[in-house]
Amino acid sequence: MKDPRPYVCDVAGCNNRKAESNRWWLVRPIDPPVSSLNIIPWDDKQADKPGTFHACSEACSSKMLSAWQAKHVAAPAEEAVKV
Ligand SMILES: [Zn+2]
Repeated sequence: MKDPRPYVCDVAGCNNRKAESNRWWLVRPIDPPVSSLNIIPWDDKQADKPGTFHACSEACSSKMLSAWQAKHVAAPAEEAVKV
């Protein structure tokens, strides 16, 4: 079962469309119990899950990571570190 709608990179200003040959990533912010960011290799079953972003390349997934880090830079560090 193939989605007829081609995937488009979610990085602002990129707009690349998914083709079979290129290397895409899925990026999913996860909040509870701690704020984290999942970056996983492309998987058709995961691609349509709510809250999942699509990145056309390592460079674009890195941009998403940077944006996410910038948004969370003010968050208390101890939230993510449980020793
Ligand atoms: Zn892109």
